[in-house]
Formats: sequence, structure tokens, C-alpha cells
Amino acid sequence: MANTSYFAGLIGGIKSLCTGLGVTFRELWTPKITERYPENRKENHIPERFRGTLVMPHNENNEHKCIGCGICQMQCPNGTIKVETKMVETADGKKKKQLVRYVYDHGCCMYCMLCTRACPQGAIEFSPEYEGAVFARESLFKVLNQPGSKCVEKPARPAAAKPAAATEGAKPAVAQPQTADADAAKAKAEKMAAAAKKAAENAAAARAAANEAKAAAEANAADTALQEAWKEAEAKALKLETAAKNFAQKAAEAAADVK
Ligand code: SF4
Ligand code: SF4
Repeated sequence: MANTSYFAGLIGGIKSLCTGLGVTFRELWTPKITERYPENRKENHIPERFRGTLVMPHNENNEHKCIGCGICQMQCPNGTIKVETKMVETADGKKKKQLVRYVYDHGCCMYCMLCTRACPQGAIEFSPEYEGAVFARESLFKVLNQPGSKCVEKPARPAAAKPAAATEGAKPAVAQPQTADADAAKAKAEKMAAAAKKAAENAAAARAAANEAKAAAEANAADTALQEAWKEAEAKALKLETAAKNFAQKAAEAAADVK
């Protein structure tokens, strides 16, 4: 019995050795690819969807699509984005937010794309530009809105058609809904509702983690590492709960716009 298992083990070992050597020999004869970077910068193929750096596309009139809502900033788990805005008065007397500076810290970004997915305007996206090395950390802070740029103006809504004067026997005119606007508002409301749901889930998970950290810290009052972990978990939970509240409010506003 002992002899059988000895020889079975020996054969198994030889087989495994041959498999490994087979891979080594195969790789020995396969053609090698050496990228001659940086000489090949121009020909270097980077896939279109490669996440190199966050950008805010501008059109030929130096206009972007950012409305300064701050959703991307709230959604970013790393605090990589800072959206600075101011309130302005529009021609029709309404107040609205306007983007002043959109600051992106490339050094903090983990390329998760939560920001681009959450943006209701499609104002930001990832560019495959991959050369991000700089000499000073401050150079990693980038302002994504160009100097003098502004948010692209939405085309004015056509005035609602007045119902025609009722004539005898004629059917009352039915106002036609502004389908394109209604669709856009509906899509925005759906996106906001999904973002609010996700934010609520994140907040609930962070609160559960904070509660666990609290229990561990209370059980080991002398352990400073556990006390620190509790503090951090509590701060994170509070941050995410605030973000979830903001999302819920934005989602409610977007839903009200649909009605
Ligand atoms: S990709 Fe992720 S980490 Fe980077 S800015 Fe967007 S949300 Fe933040
Ligand atoms: S979510 Fe989009 S529109 Fe809102 S601040 Fe961020 S980039 Fe601008």
C-alpha cells in the first residue's frame, strides 16, 4: 500500500515537472513583443475605452455640459473632485448654479468611473491619455473647465400651443406633450433615482461597518487602533449618509420635474 502511494506520487511529480517544462519551452519559441516606449508614442495603440484621465469635453464654442450639480463630487469615494459653483440669475429672473472651477486630483483617482456614470448631463468622461507623470504633486490637480467656458445653453422650449377656439362640432384641441423634453426629464429622473438608491445602499453598508467598529472598540477600550478605526468608520458613514440625503433630494426634484 505504501509502495503504491510512493510510485503514484513520483509519477504525479514527474508529470507536473513535464507540464511546467512544456510551458517553458513553448514560451522559448514564441515571438517576443517589445514595446519601444517612448519612441513609439505616435504608433502606440491605446484602446478607446482605456481610463487614462478624467476630461470635460468642450464644443467649438468653448461650451461644456456641466451644470455644477455636484453629483460626481458626492459620488466619488476618494474625494478626487471638487466642484466650485456660484449662483447666478438667468434672463427670466430664475436663480441657477453656474460652474466656476471643476478641480480633478489625478493623483487620487482610482478610475472607478462612478463619477462619469452618475453625471446626469454626460459632462465628463475618461480619455485614454495615459502619460500622467509629473514632477510636482500640485501638477496633478487639474481644472477641467477651460478658461472663459460656459455651460451650453438649452434650446428654449417652444411656447405651448393655445387651444383653438371651440367651434361647434369640432373636437377640443389636445395639447401635444413636449416629448423630447419629457423623455429627457424622465431619463434624468431614472438616473437620479438609481444614483439615490446606490448612495442609500453605500450609506447603509458604511453605517453597518461603523456599528461593528464601535462594538469592537467598546469591547477593547485599551486598543487605540480599534478606537481609530471606529472614528474613521463613523466619519465615513456620516459622509455617505449626507451624500445619500442629497441624492434623495435631487432624485425627488428630478421626479417632480417629470410631473
Ligand atoms: S473615477 Fe472614481 S475616483 Fe476617479 S474621480 Fe471618478 S469617482 Fe472619483
Ligand atoms: S455630475 Fe456632471 S453636471 Fe453635475 S457637477 Fe459633476 S460633471 Fe457637472
